Amino acid sequence: MDKLNALRQQLATIVDLEAATALLGWDQHTYMPRGGLEARVRQITTLQGLIHERMASDELHELLGALEADTGKLDPVDARLVLVTRRDVDQARRLPAELVVRKAEATGRALDSWMVNRPRGDFGAWRPHLEEVFAIVRLEAEALGYEEEAYDALLNRYEPGMGTRRLRAVFSELAEGLVPFRRQVLEVSHRVDDEMLSRHFDGQKQWDLGLRMLKEMGYDFNHGRQDRSPHPFTTSFGLPDVRITTRIHENDFRAGLFGTLHEGGHGLYEQNFLPEFDRSTLAQGSSLGIHESQSRLWENLVGRSRPYWNRWFGEVKELFPAQLSGVGFQAFYAAINRVKPGLIRVEADELSYNLHIFVRFELELRLLSGDLAVADLPEAWDSLMESTLGVRPPSPVDGCMQDMHWADGSVGYFPTYALGNLYGVQIFNQARREMPAMDEDIASGRLLPLKDWLTERVYRPARSVDPGELLRLITGQDLSPQPWLAYVKNKYSELYGLD
Ligand code: ZN
Repeated sequence: MDKLNALRQQLATIVDLEAATALLGWDQHTYMPRGGLEARVRQITTLQGLIHERMASDELHELLGALEADTGKLDPVDARLVLVTRRDVDQARRLPAELVVRKAEATGRALDSWMVNRPRGDFGAWRPHLEEVFAIVRLEAEALGYEEEAYDALLNRYEPGMGTRRLRAVFSELAEGLVPFRRQVLEVSHRVDDEMLSRHFDGQKQWDLGLRMLKEMGYDFNHGRQDRSPHPFTTSFGLPDVRITTRIHENDFRAGLFGTLHEGGHGLYEQNFLPEFDRSTLAQGSSLGIHESQSRLWENLVGRSRPYWNRWFGEVKELFPAQLSGVGFQAFYAAINRVKPGLIRVEADELSYNLHIFVRFELELRLLSGDLAVADLPEAWDSLMESTLGVRPPSPVDGCMQDMHWADGSVGYFPTYALGNLYGVQIFNQARREMPAMDEDIASGRLLPLKDWLTERVYRPARSVDPGELLRLITGQDLSPQPWLAYVKNKYSELYGLD
């Protein structure tokens, strides 16, 4: 069909431009010299302007219109391609080009300012950039449109079909089970000693260990690579080249290890989309929540599990004999799973992690509505951290300046992290039901059966199925916090000897 080919061609050009933009962004966060910033922001802005122009073009809009008039003739995958492209085109057409360019410039500068000012905790210097980003995001929400509240417009970009009202309900059901259980665990968890993880772990050895773990998961180094960056991320230049980054802390064994497994999970998803989706709008995750379910699954459900450490503990001990001298399996397993109130989201234990998301969700809502001014963010952040997690940041470095996402303009994005935790457990439970030998496999270093199962069920379908439907297809269930609550209660009751 000519029109379908024309659509594919147009999308291929747009996706190529997106890949080029992603490559410039990857370089900016890995190897670019500081002096390259101004030019880089201009280049990315130019490309984003071109992408927007093409996505919002009358030509593409009319082409889709013609295909929509005749969807009966399309096979289901092509019909889906038309449908998701329509979503992207509608979004693009609602956003004025000036706003797109203004956002690209503002976020480029806000990110740079964040990188420079975060280490010194200078919120005042970062503040004007963040104010500009929130001003833009408010305009975006209005331009995109929504039925109930402005936040819906933003959330919908990351988690189609969710909606703020439902998200609040899911989070409040989650909090109801989580908060009292975490309190119970905290009464005893201070007895766990995790001091050994802060000893000096040679960076190169950690790096090499991470590469071996990635290979064992099935991350394909012929179509990817790992580099260092201050804030780990995954980026794709199309299916044949999916990059991940990590950071190594020589005095914190957890940071590099779990960061690597986390990004490895994102990388596996992106490397294993159905190949024929490449260079189209279907070559994306079903949603960011589903994307995050895959990183959290590998990081936590595999990477912080007993079977995984049955496989790795002996080798890690051989690699770091002095650091782990006198440390037994149980002590190590307890240490990597220690529940401890902390300031930093990416370092949070499984029971504290979702609370960090609740804090960001509430603050985003208030910043977006204008109920909270950016200038008052540090104080609001600190108080909410204290009432939610029981810790108060001594400085914005470990407070409201710890994440790059707001500077990046990603407002409405944080909740997908918590959703990912919930989806992840529902999907993992199903994998275990269908593969009763999974724990033994993991304990023997055989991760490919799990990777292959995930490839069939989650990775290959990519964006051809929406998240709610994908979850039902895989598990027969709707999204619910209950399986996640059951998982943590089971794991941590056993670990801490609770009833
Ligand atoms: Zn992630």
